Amino acid sequence: MRIVMKFGGSILANGKAISLVADLIKRYSVGNQLVVVVSALRGVTDSLVEGAEQARKGDRRFVERLVGKLSERHLGAVADCVSPNLAEEVCGRIRELLEELHQALLGVTCLGELTPRSKDLILSFGERLCAPIVAAALRSRGLEATDLAGWEAGITTDDDFGEATPLMEVTSYEVKARLLPLLKRGEIPVVAGFIGATQHGIIATLGRGGSDYTATIVGAAISADEVWIWSDVDGLMTADPKIVPNAKLIPEVSFAEAGEMAVLGAKVMHPKALEPALERGIPVRIKNAFNPDSTGTLITGKAEVRPGVVKAVTLIPDVAVVTVSGFGMIGRPGTAARVFDLLGKNKINILMISQSVSEANISFVVKRDVAQQAISVLEASLLGTGVIREVELEDDVCVVAAVGAGMRGMPGIAARVFRAVAKRDVNIRMIAQGSSELNISFVVKEEDAEEAVRAIHEEFGLGKN
Ligand code: ASP
Ligand code: MG
Repeated sequence: MRIVMKFGGSILANGKAISLVADLIKRYSVGNQLVVVVSALRGVTDSLVEGAEQARKGDRRFVERLVGKLSERHLGAVADCVSPNLAEEVCGRIRELLEELHQALLGVTCLGELTPRSKDLILSFGERLCAPIVAAALRSRGLEATDLAGWEAGITTDDDFGEATPLMEVTSYEVKARLLPLLKRGEIPVVAGFIGATQHGIIATLGRGGSDYTATIVGAAISADEVWIWSDVDGLMTADPKIVPNAKLIPEVSFAEAGEMAVLGAKVMHPKALEPALERGIPVRIKNAFNPDSTGTLITGKAEVRPGVVKAVTLIPDVAVVTVSGFGMIGRPGTAARVFDLLGKNKINILMISQSVSEANISFVVKRDVAQQAISVLEASLLGTGVIREVELEDDVCVVAAVGAGMRGMPGIAARVFRAVAKRDVNIRMIAQGSSELNISFVVKEEDAEEAVRAIHEEFGLGKN
């Protein structure tokens, strides 16, 4: 089989963890053609984000300390997973990369400004520092392995820095041209995820969590049989086991269900990453590096859809409901458009929307950390226009969502969901169902959210018994 295997930062903590990953790759390399995609070491991208911010504020000491810490961590990792005769070469490359990063950060401190493009350059170093270590760990185990930055592997993007989109045609062509010869020679390409470059060669990132996306882009380009996303959980679960102790692993879901679950907070994979796999019909498998013999969750176009079945219940914490009201909104077309246009222009993402039939108010859910901004934007532009009278905030709430393709066209599922929740005396503040009917989402008080999740999980018999 030809498999693209992506290893997330959560498992790439240090040299010991990389050794474990390298052993896994070695085990699966027997009889298979593998392409490996890696994230940055755990926490490194976050610290680069902070480094970039502090550099913008002119904090040189922070920059020095950051580069020092990254040097210690990466060189330390090499010592733990690369054999001594190969270590010096990799360490040399790491030092060079760190010097480049150092210069970039100092540049930002001098300029006192951080453009999306320079931020992408800075963030690219996490994956670029990691890939050579993983490749060297593989060579230390007798495998042929070559590391490639995202652009060296052919990932070509537009110039929407911070959230770049791959230009699929060029990318497919280039990825094939660069990786297939390596595979034919029996080598394992180790691709730095999350990053690519524009057609002019400027480094761009695919957005946070983007190395999953790299994996499926590569998988689609080289017509892989499967893409495996390795992390530290067994796969998609019927609920968060911390909330529902008898939650079960879901063996198989459809792309649509997986997408819905990812969007709704199951932290298993980047939702965008499903697109290339879906398009080319390449199954994606979620696997646990610490429990490799578990079959994980398989995401396919063929997943069985049983009618009436809720497959999972998720909880989205840290959200807020904003309600815009005013009798002036009644029967006035375009009010909703104005509200959402304003929010969109300010890059405020909306998770859920509902408008009452009376049209006297519109409520929507946003992440809590942008709620105040949403309110300021709306108040500044709409208050006093005679259209809206009030903007209200409720920020002690959560969204709970029941997900499953089998709900589609099945009357009575919503009733069961809400009855189960009501029986536990939980009050529901707001409800939305996407017209895809893949999920039913509702808002409850924060303190009731876990109980609501347990109620639905039990009602649909999702747990182990
Ligand atoms: N290292 C990047 C991030 O933390 C990409 C990834 O891990 O997928 O967002
Ligand atoms: Mg990730």
